[in-house]
Amino acid sequence: MSEAEDCLFCKIVAGQIPSIKVYEDDTTYAFKDINPKAKVHVLIVPKNHVANVGELARTDPAQLAHIVEVAQSIADKEFHGEYRLVFNTGRDAGQTVFHAHAHVLTGEVLDE
Ligand code: IMP
Repeated sequence: MSEAEDCLFCKIVAGQIPSIKVYEDDTTYAFKDINPKAKVHVLIVPKNHVANVGELARTDPAQLAHIVEVAQSIADKEFHGEYRLVFNTGRDAGQTVFHAHAHVLTGEVLDE
């Protein structure tokens, strides 16, 4: 089985595992985190499988910029355009799903 076939977020993008969709276009999917760490906690993923944000920056920087634009638009709607954007990259940094994803935390004043 390939890395992508066994990937939780590829299965969510494909609709094989349910999710609460926040945004979708041809390249990008955003859905609510199952274990929210803020009032609004959304994950934004590229539909194409890449392991982490470093690989995404190297292979498709326009997609990475688009993910930031989507984060901005979610925060514009939810919390006057202010948000925290987190990309855990690597197991020792807390990455548990090895499909690049941005955590968008917003909807309330966040702790420092
Ligand atoms: P990471 O630790 O940066 O890799 O983030 C993975 C995130 O995926 C965590 O915040 C989890 O709560 C979230 N997560 C895991 N499974 C699901 C799911 O099935 N739906 C939505 N979010 C999930």
